[in-house]
Amino acid sequence: MLSPHFSLKEFTDSAKAKALKIDNSLPDALRSNAVHTCQQLEKIRAILGNNPLIITSGWRSPALNRAIQGSPRSDHCTARAVDIRCPKFGTARSVARALVASNVEFDQLILESPTLPGAWVHIGFRKGANRRQVLTKFAGDKTYYAGVK
Ligand SMILES: [Zn+2]
Repeated sequence: MLSPHFSLKEFTDSAKAKALKIDNSLPDALRSNAVHTCQQLEKIRAILGNNPLIITSGWRSPALNRAIQGSPRSDHCTARAVDIRCPKFGTARSVARALVASNVEFDQLILESPTLPGAWVHIGFRKGANRRQVLTKFAGDKTYYAGVK
């Protein structure tokens, strides 16, 4: 376990990596980042009524990140960001609103594809110097809009 509710398996699990036979195991050097991220996720989980959080994407190895055409500077590649859903709490938009309204620290929160049923929240954490930046990104639109839209 990386924290009481989050396992290394769910932090590194990727259907895409499996399909492409990409090794997505977490390097030892990034384990402390992963632990810190999951400790922050415990706070997020509590804010969301202690409902189960689903990590839809956690750590991404460089090969996996290339395969999904992720940003080369993505915080997923340093184990400092995750994509989450919390269906028992509500939609991705309601999750984003609840986190923004709370006093929880995060570096960046992005509400992703809120008009699609598979919408998710990207959230990243730094060890200190968190910017608490909030953005919305719609499917099929390259613009990042400020705030929860
Ligand atoms: Zn993400």
